[in-house]
Amino acid sequence: MTIGVLGGGQLGRMLALAGLPLGERFVFMDPSKEACARHVGDMVTGSYDDVGQLAELARRSDVVTYEFENVPVACARFLSDRVTVYPPARALEVSQDRFLEKSFFESVGVPTARFGPAETREEFDAEVARIGLPAVVKTRRFGYDGKGQAVLRTQADCEKAWAALGAAPLIVEAFVPFEREASIICVRSTKGETRFYPLVENVHRAGILRASFPASPRLGESLTRDAQAFATKVLDALSYVGVLTIEFFVKDGALVANEMAPRVHNSGHYSIEGAETSQFENHVRALLGLPLGDTRMVGEVAMLNAIGKMPPKKELLAEAGVHLHGYGKDSAPGRKVGHATLRTKAREELHALFARTRQWFELAEDLEVPR
Ligand code: AMP
Repeated sequence: MTIGVLGGGQLGRMLALAGLPLGERFVFMDPSKEACARHVGDMVTGSYDDVGQLAELARRSDVVTYEFENVPVACARFLSDRVTVYPPARALEVSQDRFLEKSFFESVGVPTARFGPAETREEFDAEVARIGLPAVVKTRRFGYDGKGQAVLRTQADCEKAWAALGAAPLIVEAFVPFEREASIICVRSTKGETRFYPLVENVHRAGILRASFPASPRLGESLTRDAQAFATKVLDALSYVGVLTIEFFVKDGALVANEMAPRVHNSGHYSIEGAETSQFENHVRALLGLPLGDTRMVGEVAMLNAIGKMPPKKELLAEAGVHLHGYGKDSAPGRKVGHATLRTKAREELHALFARTRQWFELAEDLEVPR
């Protein structure tokens, strides 16, 4: 089968690296000729509203999926008229607008921080007054990795944030003083089979994911049960097919949903070596209606993100248990260029391996594997 993918970044690249051994083929559509998935599949180059190129992608694909959520919904619908597209366009629509997304969570009974939309200065002031400080203001669309958002603690912060962001439609949210951040990755196939990966503890710095700790002992069984129940509500409401990720804050020992991604996710990269079946392979299996693979972890696992530039290969590869991934991208400040999965047999070994390797990863020098 040929799987068409909207987007040709590292997520698409890792999808292909998982699907090629199953005998599947990949064709990526991306605005850039330099997209890093070009090494692992065919490319259709064009902007996402180029109907000629979208039709070409549809013609060459048996099924189409996407690897990032800012694809215009109209494009997913245009494709849906010509070829099967998973996950459904509705999931894309909901997840690319933070106000629609939080409203959707609320409508299906998934808890969120208090929130409200603001397009004018009057609405912004009214929402800040209603929600109270501290608050967080974000652009409704196109925010990622902490871009397009600001924390509001004082009136001066509100002035600055409005000046910086007020040109775009906004959402104001209550600031959540969370104990930690977590995500759940789940997958549902065209046959309705559903599987969950373990809850992952995530650490962000400067708005970017730095490290993920699947099955962290700080996230107990009851949080896992809650996360699975919330994810099930979302999967059902969207008649979902493919991998879905929901990110949560943990506050007072309970989950508060922050956002969802209708795709494979950075906090699931550990699953390539750290789970029996990776999130990438399971996404491919789900799209094609194949039986889903076991999502259980194999060993004790942590993931470190390479941000800005790749860490030194020689030093890292000299360590048994380090699995290094480079995405074939140029270095640039704040850019995700690779990651490393650390896998050991015993938990204590993971602590030690992490302590030896974290120095090579930006803003990870003081991180520890959770106990
Ligand atoms: P987001 O783009 O929504 O994923 O936000 C990026 C990061 O900003 C999150 O991972 C949190 O660390 C922080 N953040 C976002 N929203 C809030 C909030 N309402 N309260 C506290 N921190 C937040």
